[in-house]
Amino acid sequence: MRLTKSFLPTLKEVPADAQIASHRLMLRAGLIRQTASGIYAWLPAGLRVLRNIERIVREEQNAIGAQEVLMPTLQSADLWRQSGRYDAYGPEMLRIQDRHGRDMLYGPTNEEMITEIFGQSVKSYRELPQSLYHIQWKFRDERRPRFGVMRGREFLMKDAYSFDADYDGAVISYRKMMLAYLRTFQRLGVRAIPMRADTGPIGGELSHEFLILAPTGESTVYFDAALEQQDWLAQSVDFHDPESLGRFFKDVTTSYAATDEMHDETAWKSVPADRQREGRGIEVGHIFYFEDKYTRSMGVTVNGPDGAAFHPHMGSYGIGVSRLTGAIIEAHHDAQGIIWPESVAPFKAAVLNLKPGDAQVDEICNRFNQLGGDAVLLDDRDERAGVKFNDADLMGHPWQIIVGPRGAKEGRVELKNRRSGERLDLSVDEAIERVL
Ligand code: ATP
Ligand code: MG
Ligand code: MG
Ligand code: MG
Repeated sequence: MRLTKSFLPTLKEVPADAQIASHRLMLRAGLIRQTASGIYAWLPAGLRVLRNIERIVREEQNAIGAQEVLMPTLQSADLWRQSGRYDAYGPEMLRIQDRHGRDMLYGPTNEEMITEIFGQSVKSYRELPQSLYHIQWKFRDERRPRFGVMRGREFLMKDAYSFDADYDGAVISYRKMMLAYLRTFQRLGVRAIPMRADTGPIGGELSHEFLILAPTGESTVYFDAALEQQDWLAQSVDFHDPESLGRFFKDVTTSYAATDEMHDETAWKSVPADRQREGRGIEVGHIFYFEDKYTRSMGVTVNGPDGAAFHPHMGSYGIGVSRLTGAIIEAHHDAQGIIWPESVAPFKAAVLNLKPGDAQVDEICNRFNQLGGDAVLLDDRDERAGVKFNDADLMGHPWQIIVGPRGAKEGRVELKNRRSGERLDLSVDEAIERVL
C-alpha cells in the first residue's frame, strides 16, 4: 500500500491532555481521533490493529467451542427492569428515550439480553451447555474517561456468556474460558496475569481479572513470578477432557496473584521473597461465575432429565478489545514510538523509499509493494529520509525495509528490526524471504 494514497495522518505535537504514552502515541501515529469526551473514531491504522485483536480473540473463543452472535447496542429498559438492574446500575448507564417515549439504554453489558435470547430457545437440559459471545460496542458513562481508549465511554468489548445445568458444568465452562484467555493474551504479545477477584455474594473462587503490568495501571497487583514464566501456547490442554482442564486450572491458580482489593498478607508471606512481584496493572479481561442470578431473576428455566424445571447456571467473560490497543502499546514502546507485536501490527513492514524518482530505487520498492500487498506500507512520499525514519519508528512496524540509491545499484537493501534495532544488509530476494 502506498503512503501517498492512504489516510495515515501522523502528528508532530503531543496533545496536552494525553497523559500516558499509549494515548499520546495513538494520537501521534494516527490510530484514533477523539470526537467527544471518551469517544473515539478509529482511523485506518488503528482499525487494522483493532481488527487484528478481534481476529485473535475470535479464533480462541471459537477454539473452545463458543459461538459468535451479534447483539444490538441499544436495549430496552424493560429487559433490565426484569433483572432489577435498571435502577441499580446508576449513572454509568446511558439512558435514552425513543420517539414513543419508551425507555431504552445503550448497553454497558449484555447479561439480560443474552439470558432472554437463550430462554426463548433452549428448553431442555439436553441442549446444554451453551457458550455464546459477541464483539460489540458498549457505553459506560465513566465519571472520569481518561488515558484515551483505555478508559473510554464507548468501547469495544468481547463478552461471552455460558449456560450450564449445574455448578460442575459451570466450572468446566469457566476453565475453558481461562484457557482461551491466557492463549489470547499471549498471542496478542502481552502477559496478562490472572488474579483472584471479588466474587461478591456468590462466594467461591470463580472470578478472575487479567492484568497487564504497566506503571500507569490503575490497580496495585501482587503476584508470584512463576506466573510470568508460563508458556500457555506450548501446553497441551485438552479442553474436551475435564481432568486435563482441571490440571491446567490448578496449575494457574496455585501461584499467588491478587489485586489490592483481594490481597491477603498472610498468603503473600508464603511466596518466596525472590519470587514476589509487586506493581501496577491494567485490567484487560474479567471472567466470573454468578450461579443463576439472571436466569432466576428473569424467570428462565429449562427442563431436567426428571422433567422438573431449573434455572441454568451462568458465567460471564469479558475482554476489553479497544482497551487492549492501548494496553499493548503501554507494554511495547520506546522513546521513538510504538513497537507492535507482529500479531497485531497494522502493517508487517514499511518500505522506505529514500529517493523517489530514482529508477532503480522505485523499481525495488514497487516490487516489495506488489508482493507485500496489504501487509506492506510503502513510504513513497517526497520527504527527507529523516522524516520517513521517524514516522516508521513512530508507527511501530515490526520491520523496515530501507531502499536507498547506493544499495539499489547492487540490488541490496537494509532491513531493520524495530524491536531490536538490528540492521541487516540483504539482497532484495533475501529481504523478501525474511519478511514477506
Ligand atoms: P474497570 O475496573 O477498568 O472499570 P470493569 O471491571 O468495570 O473495568 P468489566 O465489567 O469487567 O469492566 O468489563 C470487562 C472488560 O471491559 C474489562 O476487563 C476491561 O478490559 C473492559 N472495559 C471496562 N470498562 C472499560 C472502559 N471504560 N473503556 C475501555 N474498556 C473497558
Ligand atoms: Mg468499570
Ligand atoms: Mg474492574
Ligand atoms: Mg471487571
